Amino acid sequence: MIEDAMLSPDSGNTQPAQANKPAQGGGKRRPAVFLDRDGTLIEQVHYLSDPEQVRVLPGIPEALRRLHEAGFACVVITNQSAVGRGMFPEERLHDIHLEMNRQLAEEGASVDGIYYCTHAPSVEDRTAIEHPDRKPAPGMLFRAAKDLNLDISASWMVGDLISDVLTGINAKCRGSILVGTGKGLTEKEAGLNFSFEKADDLLSALDLILGAGQGEETTRPSPPDQAEPHSELEGSAR
Ligand SMILES: [Mg+2]
Repeated sequence: MIEDAMLSPDSGNTQPAQANKPAQGGGKRRPAVFLDRDGTLIEQVHYLSDPEQVRVLPGIPEALRRLHEAGFACVVITNQSAVGRGMFPEERLHDIHLEMNRQLAEEGASVDGIYYCTHAPSVEDRTAIEHPDRKPAPGMLFRAAKDLNLDISASWMVGDLISDVLTGINAKCRGSILVGTGKGLTEKEAGLNFSFEKADDLLSALDLILGAGQGEETTRPSPPDQAEPHSELEGSAR
């Protein structure tokens, strides 16, 4: 089941752009792996704007299949500021996601939802929260958790940027994992004191995710206490 949700840049309104919304409530909440798109699931392309540029990275279909088999929902969480900057229309995003889903389906894989935020930031700082839905803010994860009946505390965030890692920390996910298939960290970002894991790629990250078991406490260090994601982030990152 695919949900491709529009997160409005200004209002925080999170109306789904496609109508196949899953049933709410009932049943046990599932753990999820929240996945960045560019540089994590598909090849990093600067402001990817054409479905023909979509290349699912090696090992991704297998990783998604194994996560599903282990009971995890797989949910894409992506900042798409190019839309907010007027570089291409939002409809193009749907075409790009259709192509990504097509390539995954060819390999017997799928994702459970795609959430994107089109807000264009005013600063370069990837640790700065400017909008409740734009990573590193946790808004898209909260929305997905509500829509898909997910247990965030048992879930993981995986991505190639500091903003991905911080999103998982700000949402109070079980863990955040930085993968080496995309842009990675700047020297300054690498010097920041945040608690997260590292893996070569998503397939390698499965060792951490599946090895941790479900519903058990891990021994990895906890992120700092956070009264408010905004205030904690501002206090830690500057
Ligand atoms: Mg990325």
